[in-house]
Amino acid sequence: MGKRPPRDPQTKDVLLEIQRRKRRRSLLAYGGWALAAVALLILFVGAAWATFANDDDVALGENPSFDPSLTTGPATSAPLGPTTTRPPPPRPDTTAGPRAASPPSTTAEPAPVATATTAPPAAPPSPAANAPVIVIDPGHQARGNNELEPIGPGSAERKPKVSSGTRGTTTGIPEHELVLAIGLKLRTLLEQAGAQVLMTREAANVDISNVGRTQLANEARADLYVRIHADGAGSSSTRGIHVLYPAGISGWTDDIAAPSKQAAQIVQSALVRTTGAKDLGLDARTDISGFNWSDVPVILPEIGFMTNPDEDRLLATETYRDKIARGLAEGILEFVGK
Ligand SMILES: [Zn+2]
Repeated sequence: MGKRPPRDPQTKDVLLEIQRRKRRRSLLAYGGWALAAVALLILFVGAAWATFANDDDVALGENPSFDPSLTTGPATSAPLGPTTTRPPPPRPDTTAGPRAASPPSTTAEPAPVATATTAPPAAPPSPAANAPVIVIDPGHQARGNNELEPIGPGSAERKPKVSSGTRGTTTGIPEHELVLAIGLKLRTLLEQAGAQVLMTREAANVDISNVGRTQLANEARADLYVRIHADGAGSSSTRGIHVLYPAGISGWTDDIAAPSKQAAQIVQSALVRTTGAKDLGLDARTDISGFNWSDVPVILPEIGFMTNPDEDRLLATETYRDKIARGLAEGILEFVGK
């Protein structure tokens, strides 16, 4: 093979131009890939953030995948939802009086601050200055707290700060979840009627003792303190509604026993009227911390037996929960004279 003939200048220029274009193309291609990689990274980070934010929201509501093992033991034994890992969201608080004097028994978490009627998104009309004040206490919480507290001021007798409650034997719904759902419905109805409403809790993952809840009602000078519970019994045939109220104990409840009993009577008949449930009447009690510490009229409606399959299933429906909330609201408003 002979020597390559030398390229003429024109051919050289063409070859150089071709090489220049090749280089430019590869640079452009490289830049394109780099841009695509950055875009993918942005998308990935965005998606991860969205997932995180959603989880955050869920934790403020009820826990649909409730684990029965969570209902026992002290509340501090394992990490809970985001309520324990971040400060609670700022909440509007239009309640009268400072919150600084909250009871020592509520020190475990900052969450149980009473939330006033003006919280979004319900946006009810602002209550008038003379509006009745109702404190709603949805019983229990996701985990009980077995630390003890005196059952009355100065008492040597002590009871657990808050028990974990019962649960639906058919539906599996925990009591704390049922009574919170009804409490929130009741708040809406009372606010629509012009009352000022405070909730002792609006979430499952809180730690507020029964005495702490009652001190909140005392500080708010509630016209009525309503503690919503559901019942459990050894026999699955036991069903119906009854309302508990404090028996008169000298130095503790003698000043609130009479108005409490009057409220219990009114609310019991309103509940039976709106639900058609079996009327189990009233129960005067001396053993309930949340009564014995109260300085304001207090009742504890037991809205049905979660150990009765029929009543448990009824209590799981929005229709029946609405009937209970309506009965409670009508009775409460009649008692406070609205
Ligand atoms: Zn209960």
